[in-house]
Amino acid sequence: MAKKVLKFGGTSVGSIDRILHASKIISQEHKKGNKIIAVVSAMAGKTNELIEFSKTISQNFNKRELDVLLSSGEQVTSALLAGALCKVGIKAKSWLNWQIPILTEGEYNNSRIVNMHVEKIDKFLNLNGVAVIPGYQGISSEGDITTIGRGGSDATAVAIAKIFNADTCEIYTDVDGVYSTDPNKIPVAKKIDKITYEEMLELSSLGAKVMQSSAVQTAMMYSIPLQVRSTFTNRPGTKIFNNENIDYRKVVTGVAYSKDDAKITLQGVDDKPGIAAEIFEPFSKNNINVDMVIQNVSSDGKTTDLTFTIKREDLQRTLEIIKSNNKIKSKEISYKNNVSKISIVGAGMVTTPGVTYKMFKALADEKINILAISTSEIKISVIIEEMNTIKAIKKLHTIFDLD
Ligand code: ADP
Ligand code: ASP
Ligand code: MG
Repeated sequence: MAKKVLKFGGTSVGSIDRILHASKIISQEHKKGNKIIAVVSAMAGKTNELIEFSKTISQNFNKRELDVLLSSGEQVTSALLAGALCKVGIKAKSWLNWQIPILTEGEYNNSRIVNMHVEKIDKFLNLNGVAVIPGYQGISSEGDITTIGRGGSDATAVAIAKIFNADTCEIYTDVDGVYSTDPNKIPVAKKIDKITYEEMLELSSLGAKVMQSSAVQTAMMYSIPLQVRSTFTNRPGTKIFNNENIDYRKVVTGVAYSKDDAKITLQGVDDKPGIAAEIFEPFSKNNINVDMVIQNVSSDGKTTDLTFTIKREDLQRTLEIIKSNNKIKSKEISYKNNVSKISIVGAGMVTTPGVTYKMFKALADEKINILAISTSEIKISVIIEEMNTIKAIKKLHTIFDLD
């Protein structure tokens, strides 16, 4: 007998039929004698629809009210799933964030779970009940409803697995597991049987939305083994765990991409100590994350060019901040929002020379221009023109033997 957290994503609870199907998976696990906590997302598309509703009222919709609105999607699916389980004679009950409660800290729309009360639910599990908990939400110390960032039901599931000391945390989704790249975009993508937390964290931070990155981070921090698997097939999924279990023969494990980036170049900024700090300080004050930074060597010893990337949604705000920063004297500000970031990730890179060259050469062979580069021990990311995204992924996928 095991204590299991089973998380069902948006597509897996996207219709009544699918909710009934999820309830079958749960009842099979329950019949085996396992203690089950199910975590659900809103029906696929629901959260986006609710955001659109809010935007028709105001582009700047009140953040507190937005969280009240957004949390409703998961309320619907948790009640439907618990009801479906009750119908087949399983003792099941849903709890909303404030009923448990799930305590969060941080801003509205982007809070993080810090604690959860376990007594009521543990008691119910001990009475052979199945607990159903809505993902993506919590309650602040002021008693306000909060949400924990898009894709946050994964983070709820991992937090529950930790706090309830579960034996496993299974992420049921619409693909068979984690693939070498998005299988819905590149059909030759291959399923990965096992992957390290570090690799998964890089892949998800770099755009592989199959797992939310903060969920992977928590799982890594507390060594909570994860399994990503399909709601719709019985095939074994992908295990995410510690690296001592990993085969390093594969240099690159996966290729991720994101199209949410924008690139800004400041030409002719003064080449003197402290200038970069003056440019970037107001960004951090305004919660704008700068990703890659490239500073050219100054040709005249006086001025230089500075290029950096940010999230595309922050582009307008960032440009306004630059224009109103009277400490920046730049000849010209240019930007590009039709760029994408392509990344290769692999724990084996640490011990293999020449990976960077191989990546750059492959892109050059495809006549793809690299606009910015950043590297870490286990990843290399490049910014390229958005129209070259699929071509670049396919090429890298092939040359690193992932097809
Ligand atoms: P859920 O609603 O179940 O949380 P998501 O839509 O958040 O599901 O994540 C699953 C999707 O992630 C897949 O449908 C797939 O298109 C996408 N994806 C992106 N990169 C990968 C990858 N490397 N492996 C698997 N799926 C990926
Ligand atoms: N429903 C939320 C979202 O769409 C949370 C989730 O699905 O994980 O972002
Ligand atoms: Mg998701």
